[in-house]
Amino acid sequence: MSLVEEATRIAREFDYPAEQVQRGVSEYIRQLNEGLAKENTTLSQIPTFVTAVPNGTEKGLYLAVDLGGTNFRVCSVQLHGDTTFSLTQSKIMIPRELMASGTSKDLFLFLARQIESFLRIHHNEHFEAHLRRRLDGNHEQDLFDLGFTFSFPVRQFGINSGTLIRWTKGFNIPDAVGHDVCALLQSAIDELQLPVRVAALVNDTVGTLMARSYTSPGETGTFLGAIFGTGTNGAYVEKLDKITKLQHMKDAHYDKSTGEMIINAEWGSFDNHLSVLPSTVYDHDLDAESNNPGVQMFEKRVSGMFLGEILRRALLAIHNNPKLAIFKASETSKVSLPSDSLFYRQWGLDTSLLSQVEADTTKDYVDVKAALKDHLKIENPSNDECEAVKILVHAIGKRAARLSAVPLAAILIDAGKLDSDDVVDVGVDGSLVEFYPNFEGYMREALREVPQVGDAGNKKIRIGISKDGSGVGAALIALVASKDETLHTP
Ligand code: BGC
Ligand code: MG
Repeated sequence: MSLVEEATRIAREFDYPAEQVQRGVSEYIRQLNEGLAKENTTLSQIPTFVTAVPNGTEKGLYLAVDLGGTNFRVCSVQLHGDTTFSLTQSKIMIPRELMASGTSKDLFLFLARQIESFLRIHHNEHFEAHLRRRLDGNHEQDLFDLGFTFSFPVRQFGINSGTLIRWTKGFNIPDAVGHDVCALLQSAIDELQLPVRVAALVNDTVGTLMARSYTSPGETGTFLGAIFGTGTNGAYVEKLDKITKLQHMKDAHYDKSTGEMIINAEWGSFDNHLSVLPSTVYDHDLDAESNNPGVQMFEKRVSGMFLGEILRRALLAIHNNPKLAIFKASETSKVSLPSDSLFYRQWGLDTSLLSQVEADTTKDYVDVKAALKDHLKIENPSNDECEAVKILVHAIGKRAARLSAVPLAAILIDAGKLDSDDVVDVGVDGSLVEFYPNFEGYMREALREVPQVGDAGNKKIRIGISKDGSGVGAALIALVASKDETLHTP
């Protein structure tokens, strides 16, 4: 068997045919409804206490911070009230050691310090004025209302409080689990005496949904927001009477007038027990050696943090096959890797490598070679080595995109959104949808294969990038929260 034949054989293990997509959709609908009725289910279906989407007329100045999988962003957002906004932001990579070894205090103080320097640079007058008033004993004057985008599963109790259920992606700070993340951020802010009130807790998918709805309001607003980035997840507008588990939540504060509430699905954990998800040995080993085995099983097959690692494991299997030569000096390969190469290290391959490889349309693998050089310092790979990489990348990326159709189709079907002629608006964000070539195209192919969606349904689904939506979205939710004190949990 040749190198290319072996890569092709492995690639076939990543096939995700139409009938499996359909089974996935049926099972998703089942888990979705279970999650609306009960606590502690695979799909958390978290009530967010946000009961309306914006229509573009909202106004005001708000602060927003976003703790995502990779970066921490601080921004101030001026909503102009005419579907436009201006945004000032700073972005910093979260130091690895704060993500996985420090305490929650270290992490939140780090975040508060970033807010402080942002305010010093961009809103210093306001800051100084606040400090003067503080000296006069006026603590509550002129606080900035802040929307906190926290892209992890949180059990929410109101629009401005919620306890961390579990960390995902690269994070692992055990002492934060079970604690109210808004309170943790507020106490770090208070320790530095910043003029800031944490007004709202926002999942990035909810922010994306809100931002999309503000910037491109249609007659009905946006229905669903989704992230396909380092992690993956979605939020959508659900009918209050279907969220039966809410009835057991005493003391829940929310406005019932719209009859709807945004649900954060936490679909990264769809089918954790693997009843319908496709699985290869590479998926299995990636999970077993991750810091959260057994959870986020859907996310581990779909999102950016994991695709590079799946690819690495598949390539490593060929590399370790004594009969084949990929990335090891031999008759057919000029490549020799140092023992400390990223190729041998867990999480060593970044997903941007997949986007770069998939983008290659040249006959002589120009982009594949550039990607191997950038990411692994590999020089002069043979055409067969490049072809093997390309085949595997394509298979892994395409499976991810086809899997992404499952929650989307299921939620649209369950909400009856395909029964009328109206367009359904979906806002998306994240490095995969933005940079992986044709991610949406492969997703739409799979959508069409679901009988209840079909070609007609697919055409009604309008998908648009809501770039950096979480900042604007968080501002919009901070606005809702600050206008209505009754939403606050005391
Ligand atoms: C988190 C979600 C988040 C998603 C996208 C997942 O790992 O559990 O809360 O929305 O990543 O950032
Ligand atoms: Mg993000």
